[in-house]
Amino acid sequence: MTAQPMGFDTLQIHAGARPDPATGARQTPIYQTTGYVFRDADHAAALFNLQEVGFIYSRLTNPTVAVLQERIATLEGGAGAICCSSGHAAQIMALFPLMQPGCNVVVSTRLYGGTVTQFSQTIKRFGWSATFVDFDDLAAVEAAIDDNTRAIFCESIANPGGYITDLKAIAGVADKAGLPLIVDNTSATPYLCRPIEHGATLVVHSTTKYLTGNGTVTGGCIVDSGKFDWSASDKFPSLSAPEPAYHGLKFHETFGPLAYTFHGIAIGLRDLGMTMNPQAAHYTLMGIETLSLRMQRHVENAVTVANWLEKDPRVDFVTYAGLPSSPYYGRVESVCPKGAGALFTFAVKGGYDACIKLVDALEIFSHVANLGDTRSLIIHSASTTHRQLTEEQQKAAGAAPNVVRLSIGIEDSADLIADLDQALAKATA
Ligand SMILES: *Cc1c(COP(=O)(O)O)cnc(C)c1O
Repeated sequence: MTAQPMGFDTLQIHAGARPDPATGARQTPIYQTTGYVFRDADHAAALFNLQEVGFIYSRLTNPTVAVLQERIATLEGGAGAICCSSGHAAQIMALFPLMQPGCNVVVSTRLYGGTVTQFSQTIKRFGWSATFVDFDDLAAVEAAIDDNTRAIFCESIANPGGYITDLKAIAGVADKAGLPLIVDNTSATPYLCRPIEHGATLVVHSTTKYLTGNGTVTGGCIVDSGKFDWSASDKFPSLSAPEPAYHGLKFHETFGPLAYTFHGIAIGLRDLGMTMNPQAAHYTLMGIETLSLRMQRHVENAVTVANWLEKDPRVDFVTYAGLPSSPYYGRVESVCPKGAGALFTFAVKGGYDACIKLVDALEIFSHVANLGDTRSLIIHSASTTHRQLTEEQQKAAGAAPNVVRLSIGIEDSADLIADLDQALAKATA
């Protein structure tokens, strides 16, 4: 092999995988096992002491899941990755080593609806809190950081509103405060955006979406850049101070750039148990093999459909960062140069009632809660995913009552436009 770094299209097929040493199987086998036989008692003891890396029990590690972890870490340009059972599990797992009761995370107002609920309500049960800020206002982000802040959290391309975060600027604020920046890269995928190159410390994914790509399994992943100095302050004792559960082992001192990844497996998965199963990892590995091809078509179709909708008199506005009319169009080139993704919203003349009629009249578009599928999908966020939010929160998240969200699939764009055309006719008649 040449020494030149491999391209994305090669890595999405090969990174982390090798022919199965036992059988030569070329495709990564589904290691459907919970346990692994130890060579002898010393081997078992070394594994349990974290002195040797290997497979102990599938709540912590599994060979099929390990291939996926290496694949995603490679595509994101990270040092290591931890897969878990869903995107929401990944968010809790990502915060867990950083937070303690009384600590907070400064987060963008523009987030996936479920994340807003998780951060504004559920994490309070752990004694954690989230401070929501407009991430276009850097002074406000800085002002929201206090002595108890342990992380900054945003999405690269925010779901659902066609919003793009200025990752470099936010990473600058995080750096200055000595805090890790966590970026949810679900909507962009590493094909469109690699947050670590913009200064992110950790990247989280709902692998349920584009990475798997076909709406078959839920999963999540946390990628660690390996670049954060956990020992620079006393804010992150889980990573820098002696760990009582491992005889006083210090993760950062022992594992260096892999400290966060090891902690995520040895403490996070071991004790929270939000484990990805090998079947899910298999489906996601299948999906990732074609990620770049799918994302190219997703973006191409999204641009075509968004342009058509923007010119349609039955539509009030389209919020897609890939349209020159978007206030975030200028950020595409620096944050996600291969395209602004395939999720956007548009406002239907006739408001809430017209949106409901539109959703019911569509034939190719499915009315579903997921996104990032090969199929085109639609949802009226205000009556579904963003239903638990106040109208003010809905608007801030780009999910006002007169707006529907599209997840543009990889079908023929002419068919998607024809479907929207007939449904808009019924909705606004
Ligand atoms: C879907 C989604 C999540 C949550 O992931 P699940 O796999 O559904 O738990 C988090 N963030 C974003 C941007 C998402 O689209």
